[in-house]
Amino acid sequence: MLRAAVICVVLAAAAPADAADCPGNPDAIGTSRTITVDPAEHARVGSFQYPETVPLADKEVVLTFDDAPRPVYTEKVLDILAANCVKATYFLIGSHAKEFPKVVQRIQAEGHTIGTHSQTHPLTFDRMGADRLQKEVEGGIAAVATALGDETQLAPFFRIPGLLRSDAVDAYLQSVGLMVWSTDVMAQDWKRRINEAGIIRRALDRLAAKGNRGILLLHDIHPKTAAALPILLAELKTRGYRIVHVVPATPEQPATPTEPQEWVYRAPEKQPLPVLLMTDVAQLDKNLAEQRQMSGIDFCGEKISARSRRLFVDHKRPAWHRRHHAAKATPMRREAAVTTMRTD
Ligand SMILES: [Zn+2]
Repeated sequence: MLRAAVICVVLAAAAPADAADCPGNPDAIGTSRTITVDPAEHARVGSFQYPETVPLADKEVVLTFDDAPRPVYTEKVLDILAANCVKATYFLIGSHAKEFPKVVQRIQAEGHTIGTHSQTHPLTFDRMGADRLQKEVEGGIAAVATALGDETQLAPFFRIPGLLRSDAVDAYLQSVGLMVWSTDVMAQDWKRRINEAGIIRRALDRLAAKGNRGILLLHDIHPKTAAALPILLAELKTRGYRIVHVVPATPEQPATPTEPQEWVYRAPEKQPLPVLLMTDVAQLDKNLAEQRQMSGIDFCGEKISARSRRLFVDHKRPAWHRRHHAAKATPMRREAAVTTMRTD
């Protein structure tokens, strides 16, 4: 408990650093630059669903994490980002923020951008009524703002749960000044049968397919995402990628000057060949073993309820679903899965 508390304090005090200056980690990818964006000028980003995306140069990536904070991996991912001097954008769930306010404060103290992702993460945004929509959006913002204790630290960025957009939802979010964040690339780290190497490969392949740039959507609440992240960051650096941090414009910090066409997503003319991972399987196994040891540890000084432990072990899946898939699952050795990952 004490060790975790010390990590919380030390990391909360850490100052931002760029790629050339990441104390104690010369191999860190770092954060190469910060872009300031104005939701009033660009209301929706992410080429997965919209014509525009964040105006990135070649080999630039924006890391985004959804669904935090949950025990224990939100903190593990924060440790990894701090060790690599990487700044990301978080889309927090209000009910989770209410349960773990200290972790929300840690995300803010370490310089990440904090947007919201609804109050309870219902997967019905595309068909819910106006009253429920307003309640989910405003409730999530209020809960995260309460956890932060300072509403001005909250970015007017919103990611729709399940990316289940509709014209009505988009119009409402724009009317209340929120910038909707879809994504350019998903690594599908929420899927049960995708392992760490699969997450890394999907992220790299799909960034390449998007023209070597884009917003990457991950979920920091999953152990395999935390296990994959150090290697993903290393692979990105090896391939010459740079991490870009996105923050909202304020009266004191106006939007970064850009041309309108820089925001328009254009698919590359040629689809690149799939990338080959340089991933060290032994390192992946070591990362995963470390993740699995982290059960029931102190969560930034906050007590973890039995309910939260259950959610952390098997996020949002009912018992019948687990039994069903346990009965159907074919045993597969991790080594075999990694070896054959090029062909799945
Ligand atoms: Zn989500």
